Amino acid sequence: MKIDLQSFTGPCACGREHRLDVKEISIEAGAILRLPDLFRDGLLEPYGCPLVICDRNTYEAAGRKVLELIKADCICLPPEGLHADNRAVFAVKSQMSGDTDLILAVGSGTVHDVSRYLAGECGIPFVSIPTAASVDGFVSTVAAMTWNGLKITFPAVAPIAVLADTSVFAAAPYRLTASGISDLMGKYTALADWKVSHLVTGEYFCEQICGLEYRAVEAVRECLPDIKDGKPEACEKLMYALLLSGLAMQMAGNSRPASGAEHHVSHLWEMEVINPHTDAYHGEKVSAGLIMCLKEYERMKDAIQSGHCGVKGYAGPELELLRSTFGEKGLLDGILKENTPDPLLEVDADRLKRVLPEIAGIWAELPSSQEVKHMLTKAGCVTDMEGAGVDPALRQLTLTLSPYVRSRLTGMRLGKMLKME
Ligand SMILES: [Zn+2]
Ligand SMILES: [Zn+2]
Repeated sequence: MKIDLQSFTGPCACGREHRLDVKEISIEAGAILRLPDLFRDGLLEPYGCPLVICDRNTYEAAGRKVLELIKADCICLPPEGLHADNRAVFAVKSQMSGDTDLILAVGSGTVHDVSRYLAGECGIPFVSIPTAASVDGFVSTVAAMTWNGLKITFPAVAPIAVLADTSVFAAAPYRLTASGISDLMGKYTALADWKVSHLVTGEYFCEQICGLEYRAVEAVRECLPDIKDGKPEACEKLMYALLLSGLAMQMAGNSRPASGAEHHVSHLWEMEVINPHTDAYHGEKVSAGLIMCLKEYERMKDAIQSGHCGVKGYAGPELELLRSTFGEKGLLDGILKENTPDPLLEVDADRLKRVLPEIAGIWAELPSSQEVKHMLTKAGCVTDMEGAGVDPALRQLTLTLSPYVRSRLTGMRLGKMLKME
């Protein structure tokens, strides 16, 4: 299927005119076979010195085939210990020819983040060739990188084209696909956080983008057993939903529609300040975070609805705790900078008190943590901290610290102004 990108652009009831940087997306068996045509007389015609970035696994999955189809340089990274970080960027940069005018990212999330970052830095476009339906970041405009230990979201470029070849991504190891399902289900809390923030601070919100995301999530929920069975059509639906989530970020101009409190949990664990390194995939950490946050939203919703939740004045971030955790790894300055200005300073306590019932209403619309846990378990996805490779004893510390990893208002961050009575 070819996604009709026109239908996502133009003036919208939210008051903005939505734009997309990506020019073409195709999700179909044999999508990469279109490469020679695209270089001959299509979108890629202007580029004469393309570079394929992949790792050894994704070279086998699709890189070799791409290089048979077109003439291109190739940098193949070792998959062991490969992360979207400054080390990987330097590894590619040191081998990259100065003539490169186009990057072809052949891989999953990490290869894409490294490619996107480099494309942004070199001022050249890139093409996305996903080898697994494992994350929603393929068409994102930002690169989530670990830079000297700190999780930083860099402005980068979106791909000009996405060639998602079903015969490649539907054959990926199921753990990667399950991780994509997990990343997608994280939209439940991400969207609820967006709505709550809009309600409390008047932050920009778009009904259309939100609706698009919900429909994509629901469509995937309906075909989870078929995705698990590796049925190509169902896997295409997952890929479509993940790409749509990336388009939603482009439409909103930031990652708000796709990333909330559940992603902050994942980011915190990736910073390795309270936990040692975990080999869990991005989506696996997200779904563990999702279940944790859903439980918290249930607890706070019940307290509001039973009249046991009040609003307390905000005394600023928990500096002592931030110092003792992030300080030890030299990340305190970065965290404090991220939290300046503090998103909770935008929250008016009286207004918050008034809208508490509406916030509870937003949380009440979420599927229950039990329901999501059951669904994810059946789909073979991670649902808890153990599955994400993090000691469950760190649960409370994770919930307390994770809202600080991003300057973004979420229900979890707002929880710091609520008192349960
Ligand atoms: Zn809109
Ligand atoms: Zn994600």
